[in-house]
Amino acid sequence: MIQLYSILAACILAPLVASWLSVDIYRAFSIEVGSALGIIGFSTILIAFLISGRTRWISNLINIDQAMRAHRIVGIIALGTVFLHPFFFTGSLSGGDRPWDPTRVLTITTDFEAMASGVIAFLLVPSFVLLAIWHSKLEYRYETWRWIHAIGGCVLVGLVLHHTLTAGRYSSQEVIALLWVAGSIVAFASIIDSRFIRGLSKQQNPWSVTKIEQVTPKQWSLTVSPSNNQKLKYQAGQFAWLTIEKGPYSMEEHPFSISSAPADGEHLTFLIKELGDFTNNLSRIQVGARAYVNGPYGHLTVNNRNEPGIVMIAGGVGIAPMLGIIRELQLTNDPRQMQLIYGNRDDSQIAFKDELDPLDPLYVIAEPTAQWNGARGVIDTELLQKNLSQEQLHNWLFVLCGPPAMLEGVEDYLRRHSVPESRMLSERFNFG
Ligand SMILES: Cc1cc2nc3c(=O)[nH]c(=O)nc-3n(C[C@H](O)[C@H](O)[C@H](O)COP(=O)(O)OP(=O)(O)OC[C@H]3O[C@@H](n4cnc5c(N)ncnc54)[C@H](O)[C@@H]3O)c2cc1C
Repeated sequence: MIQLYSILAACILAPLVASWLSVDIYRAFSIEVGSALGIIGFSTILIAFLISGRTRWISNLINIDQAMRAHRIVGIIALGTVFLHPFFFTGSLSGGDRPWDPTRVLTITTDFEAMASGVIAFLLVPSFVLLAIWHSKLEYRYETWRWIHAIGGCVLVGLVLHHTLTAGRYSSQEVIALLWVAGSIVAFASIIDSRFIRGLSKQQNPWSVTKIEQVTPKQWSLTVSPSNNQKLKYQAGQFAWLTIEKGPYSMEEHPFSISSAPADGEHLTFLIKELGDFTNNLSRIQVGARAYVNGPYGHLTVNNRNEPGIVMIAGGVGIAPMLGIIRELQLTNDPRQMQLIYGNRDDSQIAFKDELDPLDPLYVIAEPTAQWNGARGVIDTELLQKNLSQEQLHNWLFVLCGPPAMLEGVEDYLRRHSVPESRMLSERFNFG
């Protein structure tokens, strides 16, 4: 985590340092502060595009939860810096061409166009960030919010780029101007890639639903297979964005962990819990329905690890990636030991119980029926204390997936017992 934030800080500050190095004369201190805030604001907006969770190499490199947390933090830094930026500018104002001030060191522009893009961006950033923070409380569809976020982000970059190039002092240097143009192109390219290029690749590789069955009162197992023998290369525990009965360019794609094993063939199975618009309508999906798969993503994989064993702790539908991992380890005769702790609200929600039983998992039920004779309650400190050995805490790998409250409790417990972050892989099913 510290490593991630250090890299982000370096990327955010790099344009500022490059700007300072590009000139010999500096302006009054307060103007330099205002300018630095503007530069940091712009670079944080650009970085936010790359850590939006859609850039595959980043999501495979770092924990998706960390990337989304960093995305939110970066958004808040952008809000603060862009908001403060104009208040530091005092000095000689000037409009029109300024041939006597080519490096814009003596004057601050009052050109309408340069100011207009800056003022609109200044007003747009707070509405954009606050909408992002509160979107889940507003009554519109998740897909609508995603369109607003993607288009709004592009408009914002366009405005800030225009303001930077026309009003910015440092971007009067060609090299700095080019830096901002290149950064903006990368940001736009990441949207074009996630919305259009991947749409094109999905169009060329259609899948179809080959099996759908209800496995518990609120969970479904859905299997898709490629229509043109194009196998998806993935690692057990990863996730993919799934589109069903919609076009390849549709915004309606949902992230689901792959619960099948790569060693089991080219089909992909997902365990899906009913939650909202899409997941509540799984019963209507027919075998043969057209599907598109965008993936794989995610870091929740146990390949190339040398710990002697794996403790998997799952809450509810958080069992989905664990199923993929367990199935893969069994199919490949992996010698690593496994322990599964699997919590649910009631025992009817335990998915694939017959398949899991031979592993001797610890099922934990919050609201058990009178007949339930296993562990009762939730996965908390007391339960972990009783069920995790010193050997596991010292040497094993921990793979965690479930509701945020459960994960926070388990992560805290593991940290308190000196389990390093490098031996903890966790995923929350929440993109925000
Ligand atoms: C990495 C990851 C892996 C996941 N794996 C699984 C899994 O294996 N099984 C499972 O049941 N659920 C999984 N989820 C959660 C699943 O994506 C959502 O429950 C599902 O998208 C809800 O869609 P809906 O239209 O039914 O609900 P809605 O009512 O539309 O949305 C409910 C909430 O789900 C999230 N959500 C909805 N649509 C999207 C979307 N297109 N992209 C991102 N988030 C969205 C939002 O937080 C939203 O507030 C995973 C989520 C993530 C981030």
